[in-house]
Amino acid sequence: MSREATPLEPTADELAVVVDEGPLNRPVIDLHTHLFPTPQFQAIWRHFDEHLWPVRYQGETDQLVETLLASGIERFAFSNYAHRPALARELNHWSADLARRHPRATAFGTFHPLDDVAGLAEEAFGPLGLAGFAVHCQAQRCYPDDPGLLPAYHLAEELGKVCLMHCGRAPESSPFADAGRFERLLRRYPRLTFVVAHLGAPDFDRYFDLLGVYENLFLDTAMLFTGFQPWTPRVGGLIEHQDRIIYGSNYPNLPYHLTRGVHGLLALELGSGIEDKILYSNAARLLSIEPPPRRRIPRPQP
Ligand SMILES: [Zn+2]
Repeated sequence: MSREATPLEPTADELAVVVDEGPLNRPVIDLHTHLFPTPQFQAIWRHFDEHLWPVRYQGETDQLVETLLASGIERFAFSNYAHRPALARELNHWSADLARRHPRATAFGTFHPLDDVAGLAEEAFGPLGLAGFAVHCQAQRCYPDDPGLLPAYHLAEELGKVCLMHCGRAPESSPFADAGRFERLLRRYPRLTFVVAHLGAPDFDRYFDLLGVYENLFLDTAMLFTGFQPWTPRVGGLIEHQDRIIYGSNYPNLPYHLTRGVHGLLALELGSGIEDKILYSNAARLLSIEPPPRRRIPRPQP
């Protein structure tokens, strides 16, 4: 068993990292959250509890959304994935419905390479109005450049949609999470925006290097800077690529408080210009979200 396949037990050192978990007092967009219909989510949580880490937030969908927004998150994007054929259509409809009920949510679709991806992509990006789609190479057991997915990349590029890509080797290693094959996609679809989850953990430098070559690539920070993972990206990489790093959490599948990643980023003391880009404006640009509303400062009563 490789190192990445073992549960990520934090070391005593990491447990000693104190990260503030209080409410947020600044606008934050969380680009990396997951929502599934409850029965599917319960099966996923069982897998997490047994093989990865105990999931702190388990509940009904609306309750999960409420908890996320109550933490101070201004807007969020969510995705899920079809782990076998014939699930994607229903998931995409479920996600579109959810986004209609929650105006602060942005929904991403899913496709399975063995389905009619061309037809499903037309529906997802057309009538369902999804912002893009997510590919989870480990969970879906497909390579990033699986030929079955190419119609979705093609249409997403044409329509200016976003592709969220989980192709890093963490937290569970998989032969499908193949950075070389992902790079082929970047070359093949130069106008399609890709966001790689978890800063490509644990191969941070490889993905920082790709940022230097491909302008259509972004990275999200999900689960980093929390003291939980046994690895940390170079802070210099965040500064160098500040326009293409986006905050994400992986909520609700977290073993710790959901704002911990925000506080961990703030603890790096990158300065408010870079913090605002990572926590809000880079994601706002990708998702065409307006600048944050001005907070009204109450005037003192005479
Ligand atoms: Zn995730």
